[in-house]
Amino acid sequence: MLTIANLEVVYNRIARVLNGVSIEVQDGETVALLGPNGAGKSTLLRAMTGLLSIHDGDITKGSILLGDQRLDGMKPDAIVRNGVVQVMEGRRIFIDLSVEDNLLAGAYGQRRDVSKELAEVYEQFPRLAERRKQLAGYLSGGEQQMLAISRALLTQPKLLLLDEPSLGLSPVMTAEVGRLIRQIQKRGISILLVEQNAAMALNLASRGYVLESGRLVLDGNSRELLDDPDFKEFYLGQGGGKASTNFRDVKHYRRKRRWLS
Ligand code: ATP
Repeated sequence: MLTIANLEVVYNRIARVLNGVSIEVQDGETVALLGPNGAGKSTLLRAMTGLLSIHDGDITKGSILLGDQRLDGMKPDAIVRNGVVQVMEGRRIFIDLSVEDNLLAGAYGQRRDVSKELAEVYEQFPRLAERRKQLAGYLSGGEQQMLAISRALLTQPKLLLLDEPSLGLSPVMTAEVGRLIRQIQKRGISILLVEQNAAMALNLASRGYVLESGRLVLDGNSRELLDDPDFKEFYLGQGGGKASTNFRDVKHYRRKRRWLS
């Protein structure tokens, strides 16, 4: 469904922050995009949602296809109409609108009756139902995350881009977000899950990509990654590793590169 090929992104016409990135997400698949701060994960999402230009960024090489539709060069609203919807990091709900108006904003511009979908959201999250008329800014962090994801679902996405959905949440709320993601998977919606919480992401995704300094350094199915000693050391904090500060420095890096060639 989604094919990103050899993508290069430059900010301010000089700073190249993505360098030949290629990623695929199949129909109904959940794929994790992992990597440390500054790796280029948000930049990749901006490229997919048409929001690079407001950050003075440009795609200088490569392509982004949804099926046979080219997304690079498309306006953000057209990308949403084509079914690619992002839930931003930090939740970005409208704190001065009621919970219900936030949800309705998800279906804005669509001439259809969303009352059944609203009822489903409220059934699933009774806390949102109790607070439907209250300002969304009064919700807890976890509740705001549920609201942001529920709102995105009301746009009827084909591909949902989740940017750090567990960021700042308690373990209990992180588990709740995980349950919601599993329900979305059952609906057949494809998901690109951007996370620093690698264990959580790979438990939900079938495959993962690791991005560092604008390049993919590793990819594989989730089991392979979770069992990979180097991956464990750098992304799961296991293995008692020393010295190296990033994945590219590890001894076996050359061997791993073969996976990507
Ligand atoms: P984080 O999780 O910290 O947001 P990230 O993996 O999402 O990290 P990006 O935010 O995409 O990484 O940043 C990638 C690189 O691009 C960083 O070096 C960052 O400083 C740089 N960068 C991001 N936005 C801009 C911008 N508008 N102009 C110039 N450089 C930028």
